[in-house]
Amino acid sequence: MIGAGPVGLLLGGLLRRAGVDVEILEQREHGSADSRAIGIHAPVLAALEDSGLTARLLEQAVQVTRGEARAQGNLLGVVRFDRLSTRFPFVATLPQSGTEAALAHHAPAPQRGIAVSALRPESDHVELDTSSGTRRAPLVVLAGGPRSRELVYRSPVAHSYPDRYLMTDVEAPGAQGRGTQMPARQDAHTALVHLEPSGVVESFPLPGGRRRFVAWDSGVTSEDPASQRDRMARTLAAHGQPLTGAVSGFGVRRFVAPALRRHRLLVIGDAAHEVSPIGGQGMNLGLLDAATLAPLLTDWVTTGTEPEAQLRHWERTRLGSARRAAQLAALNTRLGRPLPPARDSARRNGVRLMLGPGSGRLFAHAYAMGLDAEA
Ligand SMILES: Cc1cc2nc3c(=O)[nH]c(=O)nc-3n(C[C@H](O)[C@H](O)[C@H](O)COP(=O)(O)OP(=O)(O)OC[C@H]3O[C@@H](n4cnc5c(N)ncnc54)[C@H](O)[C@@H]3O)c2cc1C
Repeated sequence: MIGAGPVGLLLGGLLRRAGVDVEILEQREHGSADSRAIGIHAPVLAALEDSGLTARLLEQAVQVTRGEARAQGNLLGVVRFDRLSTRFPFVATLPQSGTEAALAHHAPAPQRGIAVSALRPESDHVELDTSSGTRRAPLVVLAGGPRSRELVYRSPVAHSYPDRYLMTDVEAPGAQGRGTQMPARQDAHTALVHLEPSGVVESFPLPGGRRRFVAWDSGVTSEDPASQRDRMARTLAAHGQPLTGAVSGFGVRRFVAPALRRHRLLVIGDAAHEVSPIGGQGMNLGLLDAATLAPLLTDWVTTGTEPEAQLRHWERTRLGSARRAAQLAALNTRLGRPLPPARDSARRNGVRLMLGPGSGRLFAHAYAMGLDAEA
């Protein structure tokens, strides 16, 4: 296994639990404290339930049962995750570092400080060039995230969107009703999406009375941290929220690989597909890649026979799920852009219709990863 991000840790842990001898090579000396992905959706929670990992995740997570779309203080529509007919009718939120710590539970300790620089898949083994020498393995799974793509694909370049966002996790104790434009309902189980003429501002509950704010960033020309902080402080102030955390900026890209395997080399997670975080499904896609691949690899290793038909089916369904998630993420990204008044008004009407009676349930289903083949 290459990569000790959430996806590599999950697959490593599931394989080890099934008795497969597995090693994880990781180039970083230490685990990441970054908080990127925060939402874990119902299909992932269901897929991990038997392993006990779901219980671990839910011990720390907040259960988000509804989402509200708002514009200029008015409610446009509500997404009711609690009304979905699924075993886990909510989105579980926790910082990515907490998710990785939970997923590491069954996984072997990663061999840190080892970077893989080349992969040569053969019919009966895979050869790896690493910073600690050349190795051979009967099977290799690449879960190295976006930058590792060049190890396996000829055209690894992702499509970049023009959009930039600012992000911060802030203390929001008892936030209900404070501030001039603060919505009436900023409770600990409700996600808020403000579709403002100046671009989207999202706010998601996190454990410990915190919230993640993500805002479309007008200052594309300045990546200066002080200027980013200033822009985010002004955005939050307009929502009655003081800025109490660090601010970071991020861009949005899209990539879906043409294939996920060659001989005994498989590719999963962000190495294989990258979708806009505006929609919050990237890590979930990768976790489902891992959860569905684990039994096939276990079968392959224990019987010595490649489960060719099942792997072909796995590859087709995972790529189909990635394409659908990328389309939904692209729609969310477009919906969150700044708009002049006439088009902003059309957007508000469109979102009212989208989330209204009839179609509202369909969108709740789609936002909760209900379009994934594993849902
Ligand atoms: C701002 C932001 C917010 C996000 N929010 C969400 C969200 O709410 N929900 C969601 O589902 N997703 C979200 N995502 C996406 C999510 O963070 C990624 O999908 C997820 O981290 C992918 O996991 P991964 O394990 O595939 O790759 P990564 O997390 O990138 O991990 C890959 C690991 O492999 C290691 N590695 C790379 N190359 C090599 C090499 N050559 N040799 C050895 N080791 C290597 C890296 O050091 C790294 O540790 C967000 C992303 C961003 C940027």
